[in-house]
Amino acid sequence: MATANKKHFVIVGGSLGGLAAGLALRELGHDTTILERNPTPVLEHQGAGIVAGGDTLAFFNKYNRCDRPIAVTSHRRQYLDRDGNVIHQEDMDQNMTSWDLAYYLMRANYDGVQNSYCEVPDGKTVHLHDRNVTDIQERDDGVEVFWKSGKGEEGSIKADTLVGADGPSSTIRSILAPEVQRVYAGYCALRGTVPESEVSDAAREAFCERFTFFHCRGVQILAYLIPGKAGTVEPGQRLINFVYYTNFPEGSPELEEIMTDRHGRRRRITMPPGLTAPDAWEKQRRIARERLPPQFAEIVCATQKPFVQAVTDVLSPANEFMGGKVVLIGDALAGFRPHTVASTSQAAFDAMILGDYIEGKVSREQWKRETLGFARFIQKRGVDMGNRSQFGDLPLEEHIHDRNVASVPREKEVYPDWATAI
Ligand SMILES: Cc1cc2nc3c(=O)[nH]c(=O)nc-3n(C[C@H](O)[C@H](O)[C@H](O)COP(=O)(O)OP(=O)(O)OC[C@H]3O[C@@H](n4cnc5c(N)ncnc54)[C@H](O)[C@@H]3O)c2cc1C
Repeated sequence: MATANKKHFVIVGGSLGGLAAGLALRELGHDTTILERNPTPVLEHQGAGIVAGGDTLAFFNKYNRCDRPIAVTSHRRQYLDRDGNVIHQEDMDQNMTSWDLAYYLMRANYDGVQNSYCEVPDGKTVHLHDRNVTDIQERDDGVEVFWKSGKGEEGSIKADTLVGADGPSSTIRSILAPEVQRVYAGYCALRGTVPESEVSDAAREAFCERFTFFHCRGVQILAYLIPGKAGTVEPGQRLINFVYYTNFPEGSPELEEIMTDRHGRRRRITMPPGLTAPDAWEKQRRIARERLPPQFAEIVCATQKPFVQAVTDVLSPANEFMGGKVVLIGDALAGFRPHTVASTSQAAFDAMILGDYIEGKVSREQWKRETLGFARFIQKRGVDMGNRSQFGDLPLEEHIHDRNVASVPREKEVYPDWATAI
C-alpha cells in the first residue's frame, strides 16, 4: 500500500501510547520513529494489571495480528465487608489484561515483518531506545527533535509531525506548556501480584474471575485476575493483581518512608517492583492485616515484589501546538487517576482517532473535540472519584455508584461543553 503524502512522524515515548500511535500511523503507510528514553530495548517487569476497556479492545481488534488471547474475563463485580463476606454483587463481564502482554503485543505488531498472512503496509517503522528527548525546535516544514543517550551521545531527528506520548511527566508538554504541573493527590496505590496457585481457597474464591472491592475510611482496595507468565490465560497459571489505595499526606513522615527505596533513595512518583524498603513494607503488611478483609490482607502480605505509585493529577490545556506540528496523546495529554481504569483506553483512543484525522476520516474539529473531551472529562471524574473515595466517608452505595459510572462505555458518555471547548 503506497501512501500519497507520506509523512514522517517522530513519536516521543515507546510505552503503550507511543506504540499505539506508531501502529495507527504505520497502518496508513506513514514512516514512524519512536524515541524511547529507556536504556534497554524493551520496557519490562514494571507493570501489572490493566482493565482493558472498550477502546483498548477495539484497538487490538483493529491492529493486532498476533493470534492469542489478550485478556482474562471477570464475570462479576463484588464488594466485601471487613470480615470478608460478600455484601454486594453484580454480574458483569470485564476484561483484564497485563501491562506486559499489552506491551509485547504492540511491539510484535509495530516491529512487524513481511509474511504470507497479511499485507504489511508501506511505511518504515523504527524504534530507538536510549533516546532521551531533551528539546524540540520548530522548523518551516516540521519539528527538529533533540535527544541525548545515557552514554552522552547527542543527536537530532526531523519530524513532519511530532507525537508526544511521553507520559504524565511529559518533557514535550513541559517545553510547550511549562505552567502545567503534575500534582500529588495525597494518597498512593500500593500494588502487586500473587500467583493464583499460591493463595488459600478463600482468596481464590474471592478473586478468580471476580472484580472485588473493599472500602473503608481512607482506604480502597481492589483485585482481579490478569494473565500470568508470558501472558498465559490458562486457569491455575494466572496472577491475582491488587491495587490498594491508602492516604499518605504530602510532607508526612509516612510518605517519605514508603517512597524511600531499600537503598535510601527517595522516589518521587513510582517505587519500582522489589525496591520498597523492607521495614516500610513490613509496616504496610501489618496495617493490611489490621484493616483489610482476610482475603485482601493475604494477597497484600504474600506479594513478593510490591510497587508503589503516588497518585497524581495532570492535564494539558491543549492537544496540539506549533500549528499542529506537535500533538500530545495519552498520559502526556491527561494523567488520569487509576480509579477511572481509562488510561490505556485513552492512549488507544487517542491513537485511533489521530489516525482517522490524518487519514481525513474525521475533521480537525471533531478530532480535537473528541480527544479533549475524553481527556478533560475523565480526568475530572478521576479527581472526583478519588477524592470521594479517599477523603470522604461514603456509604457503600455511593462507592458502587461511582464505580458503575466509571464503567459507562465512552460512546455513551455525553461530554459537557467545558470538556469539548476548543
Ligand atoms: C513501565 C510502565 C509500566 C506500567 N504499568 C502499568 C500497569 O501495570 N497498569 C496500568 O494501568 N498502567 C501502567 N502503566 C501506565 C500506562 O502505560 C499508561 O497509563 C497508559 O497506557 C498510557 O500510556 P502512555 O504511553 O501515554 O504513557 P506512559 O506509559 O507513562 O509512557 C511514557 C513513555 O515515555 C517515555 N519517556 C518519557 N519521557 C521521555 C523523553 N524525554 N524522551 C523519550 N522517552 C520518554 C517513558 O520512558 C515511557 O516509556 C505503566 C507505564 C509504564 C511506562
